[in-house]
Amino acid sequence: MKVPLLDLHAQLAYLQDDLIKAVNNVLTSTRYIQGPEVEGLEKEIAAYSGAQYGIGVSSGTDALLVALMSLGIGHGDEVLTTPYSFFATMGVVLRVGAKPVFADIDPVSYNIDPLKMAEILHADKQRKIKAIIPVHLYGQCADMRAIIALAEQYNIPVIEDAAQAIGAEYPFPTEKGPKCERAGTMGLCGCFSFFPSKNLGGIGDGGMVITQDKAFAEKVNLMRNHGAHPKYYHSLVGGNFRLDPIQAAALRVKLPYLDGWHRKRGENAARYNALFQDTDLVADGKVTLPVSVYSESLPQQPIDEAHYHIYNQYVIRADLRDALRDWLLENDIGCEIYYPVALHKQECLGDYRQQLSLPHSEKAAAETLALPIYPELTPAMQEYVVDTIRQFYQR
Ligand SMILES: *Cc1c(COP(=O)(O)O)cnc(C)c1O
Repeated sequence: MKVPLLDLHAQLAYLQDDLIKAVNNVLTSTRYIQGPEVEGLEKEIAAYSGAQYGIGVSSGTDALLVALMSLGIGHGDEVLTTPYSFFATMGVVLRVGAKPVFADIDPVSYNIDPLKMAEILHADKQRKIKAIIPVHLYGQCADMRAIIALAEQYNIPVIEDAAQAIGAEYPFPTEKGPKCERAGTMGLCGCFSFFPSKNLGGIGDGGMVITQDKAFAEKVNLMRNHGAHPKYYHSLVGGNFRLDPIQAAALRVKLPYLDGWHRKRGENAARYNALFQDTDLVADGKVTLPVSVYSESLPQQPIDEAHYHIYNQYVIRADLRDALRDWLLENDIGCEIYYPVALHKQECLGDYRQQLSLPHSEKAAAETLALPIYPELTPAMQEYVVDTIRQFYQR
């Protein structure tokens, strides 16, 4: 049996006709820059997430970049973030000339640890930290209650890297009990990616910034278009960070499916968990399963009422990880390491990386492995994946 890590053909089977129509509409409209498809998607994603404003941009990376640029962050500034993420999270900080400072992750959720953040913020006597970028890794929100409390205490804006977490919910405590907020709406802004492997993926690159802040939305809107206002008058230096209307049109076809896909991914995760529990692998410590931390802390809430984890990736920790990966690939099972090198160990940091030690992130980089979790995965495929892993440890 062949089990790819992601099979976009499986969704094309039911989406292709509508996608062709949507692309053809853009083609024949001759509105190739901005226009109604981009504006329509901006409204729909903002409404879906519970945000006031959405600003379509060229990629998830550019969403983060334009957010930093709109805050005027640059040389001499520092940005507090996680060392365990896709490179873009740190890359944008370096590109604006600022310095990334890292708080290690919580080893269960893989998200930035607010206790470590508190230590770093407390030690920042010169107040160089000008922004905080938490990442909602694999599709589960970072601990935003604690992060927002720190951000308010130190008066630092929060840019949520929600590239892997569109629609993921966080139970924000209120006087009347927990209220679910969606990824990207708790900080100053949230940044989405529509890279094809994300839960909502385009047919190419795309991204969006969402925010509740009108002035910030206007600034991002200027920044994505060379800071021009009116046209050809530039009070700011921005760039061309616009979202392509073909991508917007394709994403509008897909958005109505998103909650159903989240649900299927959640069901697939539950099925993997059950299949693994039926083996000795978990008890023997060979495999550690992912944890939906907010579902566990709120057992009174039925799991299917909220998407605390949207499983953009289903990531296990595995003993002998690299050999297991090779074994799965030999057996036609797609899998991937997200991410094999923690950000603070990347070569592009030069000498700075020698000074940094963040053990939980380094350990995660050495042990994690993502298994296929896409919505159209079948139970038989999942049984084959778990059985092939069981065989590996029995050899
Ligand atoms: C995908 C991703 C990005 C970048 O998005 P692109 O659209 O590929 O530029 C940024 N951060 C994280 C955590 C991501 O997973």
